[in-house]
Amino acid sequence: MSNKQNKPVTGQISIDAQNIMPVIKRWLYSDKDIFIRELVSNGVDAITKLNMLGKGEGEDLKVQVTLDKKKKTITFEDNGVGMTQDEVERYINQVAFSSAEEFLKNYAGEAEGGIIGHFGLGFYSAFMAAEKVVIDTLSHQEGAQAVRWESEDGINYEMSPGDWETRGTAITLHIMKDEEEFLEGFRVREVLEKYCGYMSVPVYFTDVEGDKEDEKAREKRNKEGLKEAKKEGKEAEFTPEEAPAIKPINDISPIWFKNAKDVTDEEYKETYRKLFHTWEDPLFWIHLNVDYPFNLKGILYFPRLKRDFAGQEGEIKLFNRQVFVADNIKEIIPEFLMVLKGVIDCPDLPLNVSRSFLQNDGQVRKISGHIAKKVADKLLGLFKTERETYQGYWDDIHPFIKYGCVRDRKFYDAVKDALLLKTTEGEYYTFDEYKARNEGKAEKKVYYTSDPARQAAGVALFTSRGIDVAVMDTLIDINFMSFMEYSGDSGDKAVQFMRVDADVTGLKEDSEEGKDLQQEDLQKLFRDALGSQELEVKLEALADKDLAAMLTEDEQMRRFKDMSALYGQSMAMPDKHTLVLNRQNPVIRALAAMEEGDRSKLLCQQVYDLARLSAQPLEADSLKEFLKRSNQIVALLAEKE
Ligand code: ADP
Ligand code: MG
Repeated sequence: MSNKQNKPVTGQISIDAQNIMPVIKRWLYSDKDIFIRELVSNGVDAITKLNMLGKGEGEDLKVQVTLDKKKKTITFEDNGVGMTQDEVERYINQVAFSSAEEFLKNYAGEAEGGIIGHFGLGFYSAFMAAEKVVIDTLSHQEGAQAVRWESEDGINYEMSPGDWETRGTAITLHIMKDEEEFLEGFRVREVLEKYCGYMSVPVYFTDVEGDKEDEKAREKRNKEGLKEAKKEGKEAEFTPEEAPAIKPINDISPIWFKNAKDVTDEEYKETYRKLFHTWEDPLFWIHLNVDYPFNLKGILYFPRLKRDFAGQEGEIKLFNRQVFVADNIKEIIPEFLMVLKGVIDCPDLPLNVSRSFLQNDGQVRKISGHIAKKVADKLLGLFKTERETYQGYWDDIHPFIKYGCVRDRKFYDAVKDALLLKTTEGEYYTFDEYKARNEGKAEKKVYYTSDPARQAAGVALFTSRGIDVAVMDTLIDINFMSFMEYSGDSGDKAVQFMRVDADVTGLKEDSEEGKDLQQEDLQKLFRDALGSQELEVKLEALADKDLAAMLTEDEQMRRFKDMSALYGQSMAMPDKHTLVLNRQNPVIRALAAMEEGDRSKLLCQQVYDLARLSAQPLEADSLKEFLKRSNQIVALLAEKE
């Protein structure tokens, strides 16, 4: 269809358009604001094309978005390549829907996700908010004739010679009644900042009515200021307020496209604050720059994490060549890194990603794997070169590092040398360091506490012997410890975790003292005194001679109980407690020599409670008993005097 006679032509875009338009509108309903992105990015494309043709040099190339609330219009104007009538015919009237049909065939039934741009429907998204769209365009080509195109529904159009005098394109949307939110300056600006904040061509926004109001307000303030100044007789000092300088809404060269060495820390932080609307600084960041096997640039930020990162969600913003595509594309980032924030700019992914597309895309899996590797590399690098700094981050980042190890073997292999144990003394050691420090005392074990306050007495038994006790007090630690024991390194590097109340190996000593005591006799004495025939009693030589006994609980059994409690199952599990008596302790030796009676009963009960106390505080009834008995013992002491 050529129109050499300069008469208006009308036409119908395509028969199928009638069917497609409502579908598009419905599909895109949730992300209606993307029409702004599509029209701005078409302007950016037009300018990019002009540059590629070697034109426009030295010109002020830009996209101007103008909101006129009174006229109920938004205009997107660019000074890019423009279009000839043939091009409007080809690109606007025909192409759009041929590829759209194909899309509909391929993706029918999928309710989610955008389809704009990539499928040539970008321009038509204008009809989601407009009851009429007008294109005015003048091609860069020599002797080109301006074209005007109008349509009220995206189905029927009228095309005629236009009167646009400058090279480029202006697209005017007459906003429909239901979409008047897009006539609010703050709303349009917000959408522009969201989607276009990093586009590669300057984008300006003018709110005609808003600016008039601002100007009026300024004039009023100036008048008042002048009056005030006159009253005080200091007219000369009064400087009237000027209109703010007009700045583009975007940053045309985002730092993720730069070389890491050319970006300052402050720039990284500034971008973080701008992207995530926060005043907080990130802990640290990783600058991604991949050329092969895919193209990807970006920055991953480690935010300050809350304990156990419960409820804390990260946010990854996905860009395609500086055009914002979507937030929180979970598939792009390994699940265990979901607490990260950042930007990923990847031209290899379509601008319009739909969830199911991403889930099934091999490329996306590769990206996710690459990110995990980069994060591991960064952590290891930090650990090796800036150990102090790394330790400073540890409290914040260890939960997700541990989670990563449990979830992803490759990640574990990459970071295992940088895994730290934090001790109750606030020191940080690697597993190897811990082993070396506790050589001969802890064997292949790592002694830990899950609650340094409640288990303080148990902790002290070990620390007073110079054995380091690690703090393992986050939810992920239970899983992490099992992982390290069963799936971590084996052989020489194998590790076993023991809570301070689970095992006495580290407290034992080779000694002849008390070797003559009979375990069975003492067990009977304690069983009778405590009225429990199940109680396991063991005799050991514990290094701390003042310590009469310890109550240990089988590590695996206890963890199993903890686990099932965590998952809300309260299974009746046999208690596997062992009362370890210290044969080097005078009280135990006295007990062994004692006749069974009231006095031995009192002693047994007290020794047992003291042993319990070193694992955790006594509960109400036991505590009452304990206090009563302690008073009796004190009274006994007084009697003797
Ligand atoms: P896409 O951008 O994916 O090609 P669109 O529907 O957004 O799909 O645009 C269709 C075509 O219309 C573009 O490829 C371009 O050729 C033309 N076009 C749209 N807007 C402009 C513009 N502002 N300047 C020049 N050409 C444009
Ligand atoms: Mg487009």
